[in-house]
Amino acid sequence: MSMFGQVYVKNNQYKIKGDFHHLTPNTPIRDADAGWKLLGVTNPRDMTYMHSYGGEAAFFEALSQGKLMATRCDNPKCEYKGSVYQPFRVHCPDCLGKNTVIDMTDIAKKSARVHTFMVCERSGAFNILEKPIKFINIEFDGVVTILMSYLSIGEPAMGMRVVPIFKKLGPTYTILDLSWVPVGTKENQLPEGFSF
Ligand SMILES: [Zn+2]
Repeated sequence: MSMFGQVYVKNNQYKIKGDFHHLTPNTPIRDADAGWKLLGVTNPRDMTYMHSYGGEAAFFEALSQGKLMATRCDNPKCEYKGSVYQPFRVHCPDCLGKNTVIDMTDIAKKSARVHTFMVCERSGAFNILEKPIKFINIEFDGVVTILMSYLSIGEPAMGMRVVPIFKKLGPTYTILDLSWVPVGTKENQLPEGFSF
């Protein structure tokens, strides 16, 4: 197979190399109960999408370095000045000003707890998480929003104290690089590539 598309930016322009789409031959769909008469065709499609993170890039870069970044509105004219947002919001939803990026790793380590949770036995296409997936909604001291993530070890419970773990080895630069485990979990119990 040819090389998948890769991208970097220079002089404020995308520089691309490799193949961003492949034309794969289609195949007939036939009816086994009616003399294999033609019903249609498959249309294989394989493409590489360029997903720009924009102002959220700092969040994903930090995960690979074991840091959880949040944002805070510091606009003195905003009615909700000082609000801290996790998930990371580039702009304040109240004044629409640009938020300040802050490191909240220590706050997460000291105060993260499960607000509520949901265990999913089935998943959508392209899921790579182990099933059942234990989705947890996490609350933090001093943060006005709640983060959706997933628990890697143990069974979730409301109010349970959890700590963040980060995929620093072989990061994917997606939200899957952040996960959570119960307080007291040992480093050698963590999933491959993850550490505190
Ligand atoms: Zn604001």
